[in-house]
Amino acid sequence: MSVFTAVQRWADEEPGRIALRFGEHAWTWRELVSRIRRNAGAQLAAGLRPGDRVAYLDKNHPACLETTLACALAGTANAVVNFRLAPEELVYVLNDSTARVLFVGAELREVVDGIRDRLETVERIVDIGDYEDFLATAPEFTETREPAPDDCFLQLYTSGTTGHPKGVLLTHRSMLAHADAATEAFRFDRESVNLVAMPLFHVGGTSWALAGMGVGCETIVVREVVPDQLLAQLGRDKVTHAFFVPAVFGFFLKVPGVEEYDYSSLRCLGYGGSPMPEPLLRRSMAAFGVDFYQVYGMTEASGVFCVLGPEDHRAAERLTSAGRPVRGVEVRVVDPSTGEPVPDGEVGEFRIRGAQVMAGYWRRPEETAATLEGGWLRTGDAGHRDEQGFLYVEDRVKDMIISGGENVYPAEVERVLSEHPAVAEVAVIGVPDEKWGETVKAVVVPSGDLDQAELLAYCTDKLAGYQRPTTVDLVEALPRNATGKILKRDLRAPYWAGRG
Ligand code: AMP
Repeated sequence: MSVFTAVQRWADEEPGRIALRFGEHAWTWRELVSRIRRNAGAQLAAGLRPGDRVAYLDKNHPACLETTLACALAGTANAVVNFRLAPEELVYVLNDSTARVLFVGAELREVVDGIRDRLETVERIVDIGDYEDFLATAPEFTETREPAPDDCFLQLYTSGTTGHPKGVLLTHRSMLAHADAATEAFRFDRESVNLVAMPLFHVGGTSWALAGMGVGCETIVVREVVPDQLLAQLGRDKVTHAFFVPAVFGFFLKVPGVEEYDYSSLRCLGYGGSPMPEPLLRRSMAAFGVDFYQVYGMTEASGVFCVLGPEDHRAAERLTSAGRPVRGVEVRVVDPSTGEPVPDGEVGEFRIRGAQVMAGYWRRPEETAATLEGGWLRTGDAGHRDEQGFLYVEDRVKDMIISGGENVYPAEVERVLSEHPAVAEVAVIGVPDEKWGETVKAVVVPSGDLDQAELLAYCTDKLAGYQRPTTVDLVEALPRNATGKILKRDLRAPYWAGRG
């Protein structure tokens, strides 16, 4: 079955029912499927063939979901790109994706104009403002095309230890398996109203949306997070399901009278994507008074692979757990260096297996082989499993920093900083931050006179906002082990003391 067919089914069964909402606009299932078919038709008219890529660069908009589903129909793939990336990174990702058509939102058009002559494969740019014209240019794609289960229709980018973002190949097989598992775990059904506020370039946005659409939920796409407006929308639109990263819960708790909004329709309030500090979780549970679900997932797993359900939020000792694997996912906890399983209670790397695991990384056979070792996906997360099978995430094998739900790989930031003439050596670590969960700190050995403010300003057009260091420490030497590897754990320790 194709991801498109799963949606088409609702146009056949309930054509007049509302499928999708965005601001004041609403589309029925019949209208939505017709728009998806026209998008697919327009892709073909633009010369795209199965296996080709389009790219999408905008804040949340229904056109992104329509394009992804049109790709699922036409056999192409949508590379949805993080609109917060710095221009240099956009050039890299767009060229890597080999996208021939690029959809661009008005707010991103200037940035794209600035890099246009460096985009090697883009033949056509479609402004989201002209999206309706794009749809009107071609007849509906009426062919019934049965894709291979491992055909990729969605390519989301994640960063890697090498420092370059990698395209994660998400397929009909992986997404349908994810949708099944998520439907069971979050209890989505035909009556659900599913709010999508996470960015669609992230699995937390697109996979969450596709899971709900597959079972006929009404989907509400939110352009961007405006905390008080979002809280009001939950009651007004009778939202039953919503998912936010921990940083957004932090914003919600600052809204005056957060407890007073109408949450009576909410049946599943998901949080996750990065560790949720326990005090923030407790305060959020008290403020909303509804069923909380912890979402532990990753791009390479098509989204969520472990859930802590509402029943388990009642036991205090469980609140620090990320839950248990969803249906169809097996988890092993292994010693990352040997790959041997460790006993329950001992810390190791989580490795997972199941149909929802990605097909691989786009055009990176070596990294694919290293990440999908023997059919098991290396998550890069370290933690332990208890005797009841609950997982506890404790560390990141790769020192990744998560700031406001965005992954920051120290290697990328270090590469930029080390090019500054006054930097002899640098190590980048995550330190606690009330607003973002973590923020980026650079620990620098200067080679001469170094102005910290100037170094921070130096990063402005070289790194995305969330990747830029917010503070710089100057030191005489970095702590290293016998083989010369920087001991990041030692650098981090003073900042995290007493936080567990
Ligand atoms: P991404 O591929 O951007 O979704 O990032 C995936 C990574 O985010 C995981 O490998 C974890 O390190 C982290 N993560 C996601 N959800 C959770 C969670 N509920 N608790 C702790 N870490 C999480």
